[in-house]
Amino acid sequence: MSFRIGHGYDIHRLVPDRPFILGGVEIPSSCGFLGHSDGDVLAHAVIDALLGAAGLNDIGTHFPDTDERWRGASGELLVRSTLELLQGYRIVHLDTTVITEQPRLGPHRDAIRTALAGMLDLDVDSVNFKAKTNEGCGPIGEGVAAASHAVVLLEDVRGSAMEHDRWL
Ligand code: MG
Repeated sequence: MSFRIGHGYDIHRLVPDRPFILGGVEIPSSCGFLGHSDGDVLAHAVIDALLGAAGLNDIGTHFPDTDERWRGASGELLVRSTLELLQGYRIVHLDTTVITEQPRLGPHRDAIRTALAGMLDLDVDSVNFKAKTNEGCGPIGEGVAAASHAVVLLEDVRGSAMEHDRWL
């Protein structure tokens, strides 16, 4: 068995009159994410973790913000489009963290986790979601931006399929 690990990171500015969407879940908030797409910082970090594990560069390579096709694109659409690039890999586990001062994410943790699992076609116990504040420090602590990290483990099943074929 062969496994590959990937890490993703993203940060978006928070501005008034934009939706605050994490993993496809819209959360009531006075500010939301500035972005070419819907600014789903969590989905974008997950995409970079998946692409990183597969050795497929990064989100900007596949979904450039200069491409009108992706204007306003939901995080879920981008995640599902990324899955199509991952033929031959199985997601073993995904762990995620969002860092924001506001809004408080604790009450939405289960909804976000379930939504992430759904868009990745995974069981909920294969996905984790954590929320932190930045303890008032820096731009995230001042509420100017929010960030996300994601780490994913993929199993490379391309080799095992070839191995299997050789013995047929
Ligand atoms: Mg982004």
